[in-house]
Amino acid sequence: MILPKNNRLTSEQLLEITTIVMEFDCKIQPIDGAVRTIYAIVGDERDDLMINRLEGLDYVDRIDRIQSPFKLMDRRSDLANHRLVIGNVTLGEELLVIAGQCTIDPKNPNYFIETALAVKEAGANAIRGGVWKPRTNPYSFQGDARSLEILMDASRRTGLPVVSEVMEPEHIKLALDAGVHVLQIGARNALNYSLLRQVGRAIAGRTTTVMLKRSIHNGPLSEFISAAEYIAAFGNPNVVLCPRGTTPTLDGYRNYPDESITPLLKEKTWAPVVVDPSHSVGKATYVPAAALAAVAYGADGLCIEAHVSPSHGIGDDPKQAVTPATLMEIIHRARALHAVVHATPTATRS
Ligand code: PEP
Ligand code: MN
Repeated sequence: MILPKNNRLTSEQLLEITTIVMEFDCKIQPIDGAVRTIYAIVGDERDDLMINRLEGLDYVDRIDRIQSPFKLMDRRSDLANHRLVIGNVTLGEELLVIAGQCTIDPKNPNYFIETALAVKEAGANAIRGGVWKPRTNPYSFQGDARSLEILMDASRRTGLPVVSEVMEPEHIKLALDAGVHVLQIGARNALNYSLLRQVGRAIAGRTTTVMLKRSIHNGPLSEFISAAEYIAAFGNPNVVLCPRGTTPTLDGYRNYPDESITPLLKEKTWAPVVVDPSHSVGKATYVPAAALAAVAYGADGLCIEAHVSPSHGIGDDPKQAVTPATLMEIIHRARALHAVVHATPTATRS
């Protein structure tokens, strides 16, 4: 739908937009209102080049797309009934809780194993553990491929699926060969289209899921969903969207918590939403409230950093990992809230 700056286009302008859209097998249908006329694009209006050429015209105010640019991730696509299963949870039916250390310390593997067993005991359905880490400071610990063995050992001992971040093609290969169930694309790589394509290609034909974090910048939701579309385009649509806070920060919180985008995402896409309250707020004391807020906003799952002894952790763990006792409390409350949020509304009295 083309909305011109003036109330209606001149005949020359109408001819110009008609000529452009015809190159893309579309037509223009003017819709006359009392005061102004708007111009519907009739046909497949998804070609970005057509939209960009129309947007470039100085007499065009804006273009509202009626058709979704997401062929696969759109709520109305053929995949709308696609169900994702992680561990024993079907997303959308029960609340999924992923928990575990930010970073696996290869020098202290026992901490990770203890954490994995403890988060299982607390009620988590899957375990997270960073093998390779995207660190702001180049001198900080960058992760270690040897941690992959520790991660898979924790999976065997708990019987739970594991989630870990990959940042380059070599990581994808190693993680898939090792049997990692969910590959995380982190906030820093969320718009790395080359990596998104590589991960999409690598999981095609497998049961693997990708947990795509929202980019660190406060971009539009369409950008987030388009990034998921990149992955799904190769044939495996097992993608979950993970809001994790955006920059700039909110005084006191590490990022700007964005769990409130969940209902907006759900209006546009069928993809499950698993919120990461840990990176949103960046401090263990704030995590329980952020986790519950996410569930209240309709999240299908939570991804929470937890550690048996946060002060002995590395990476984010000393500041933002919750203890297993706190995790258990969060899970208990979050599941109760999830049941409330998804309960059939009681009939209103007349
Ligand atoms: C993480 O999960 O530890 C992490 C680095 O996440 P993000 O990409 O959201 O910062
Ligand atoms: Mn972390």
